[in-house]
Amino acid sequence: MSKVAVIGAGPMGLACAHELLKRGHSVEIFEADDRVGGMSAHFDFNGLSIERYYHFICMPDSPLFELLSELDLDDKLRWQETKMGYFYNGKLYDWGNPLALLRFSPLSLIERLRYGLHMFYCTKVKDWSGLDKQEASEWIHKWVGPRAYDILWKNLFNLKFHHFTGNLSASWIWARIRRVGQSRKSIFKEQMGYLHGGSEILLKAFEDSILKEGGRINLSCRVEKVVVEEGKAQGLIVNGDVQHYDSIVSTIPLPFVPDMIPDLPEDIKDKYKSIDNIGVVCVLLKLTKRVSKNFWLNINDENLEVPGLIEMSNLQPFEHNVAYIPFYLPRDKAKFRNSDESFIAEAKNIVQTVNPDITDEDIVDVHASRYGFAQPICPPGFRENLPPITGVIQGLHIADTSYYYPEDRSISESIDLGKQLAKFVT
Ligand SMILES: Cc1cc2nc3c(=O)[nH]c(=O)nc-3n(C[C@H](O)[C@H](O)[C@H](O)COP(=O)(O)OP(=O)(O)OC[C@H]3O[C@@H](n4cnc5c(N)ncnc54)[C@H](O)[C@@H]3O)c2cc1C
Repeated sequence: MSKVAVIGAGPMGLACAHELLKRGHSVEIFEADDRVGGMSAHFDFNGLSIERYYHFICMPDSPLFELLSELDLDDKLRWQETKMGYFYNGKLYDWGNPLALLRFSPLSLIERLRYGLHMFYCTKVKDWSGLDKQEASEWIHKWVGPRAYDILWKNLFNLKFHHFTGNLSASWIWARIRRVGQSRKSIFKEQMGYLHGGSEILLKAFEDSILKEGGRINLSCRVEKVVVEEGKAQGLIVNGDVQHYDSIVSTIPLPFVPDMIPDLPEDIKDKYKSIDNIGVVCVLLKLTKRVSKNFWLNINDENLEVPGLIEMSNLQPFEHNVAYIPFYLPRDKAKFRNSDESFIAEAKNIVQTVNPDITDEDIVDVHASRYGFAQPICPPGFRENLPPITGVIQGLHIADTSYYYPEDRSISESIDLGKQLAKFVT
């Protein structure tokens, strides 16, 4: 039995701690934030407990379903038939099923067919290795042609990935299309899942189980340094105190790792530093009216600088209508430093442009959450450049959401990897 420290209490750190305890280790978690959950954490939106960032569940999220069963939470998983839309140059179109595609007049018939074929291919392909070295925008161009790329993809890419567009892995984009594309009741009906009570339900069950099994969770405890002596991880420095452990598992975003573990070899630190991340400012609005009937609305409009709008209340019932408007931005872009108020004003303009019936009085509450490391950017061949999870320093295991490439960041994948990390601890 080892004495193990887990750094980070997002879904990955919690899943790792949960598995370590099942394997008989003693476990202590250190979390910088004042709550567990990381990117999936809730906050109090003036009486409504809700995630800071939107979360939906897809039918292929098996690791999450297994965990829900284990924690007796199956009855909290709900499925809802959802709709997608496309707001293109001032007009709202249906989207996300073959009929909507056939009716999407901005594309020619051939372009619609080519787009449909590409989507079909993405949901059927299983082996992603052939896509790993391809660049995503070139790959999509080949499938749908330049005009359909410009109408459907260009803006989405530019507003989500900015200057990283043009150097993204095709397999990474394919995995996103496939996850959502496979979440269907039938070819005409999309269905998405959510937890009744939100991600908090899962996080609370994780916390309870970890504490019941004798684990400890230290909140507001940022790990300053991992102490390495004679090639072995010996412990942590937290609040200036050294604490000793046999093994250490880090689940924090990789860009933080070089400063926290200065004794890593320089070439390994350089690899962590070379991973780019995109930031997000996510505005949440409570409204008296629906923006549209869609859960997910793609946006391509020259006056609106967001790739989409997620109307959570069209998936999950709330007292009010609730919509997230995510502004994805590189941390070094000047706009990322704009005030919350300016993002909120922009978000209000977006919902009022999409639905001109919405007046200022219909927007009853607003909030903005901001995070500089919303997700890693994965260029072609991304995995080859990642340092190994284990074995660089004895007793130290390091991962984050990058390690389940080509899958997109998700609670389910973080749970799966968290469980795997526990298996490295002897
Ligand atoms: C805008 C947005 C939308 C999303 N949508 C979805 C979705 O629809 N469906 C879905 O499944 N997933 C979604 N996700 C992704 C999901 O939230 C993440 O995949 C998941 O939370 C990752 O968990 P993690 O534990 O791997 O990492 P994180 O959540 O990043 O947790 C890492 C933790 O480490 C802590 N930490 C950092 N430094 C230190 C330190 N020095 N010491 C101690 N602790 C430290 C952080 O505070 C954090 O709590 C979304 C994320 C965002 C941002």
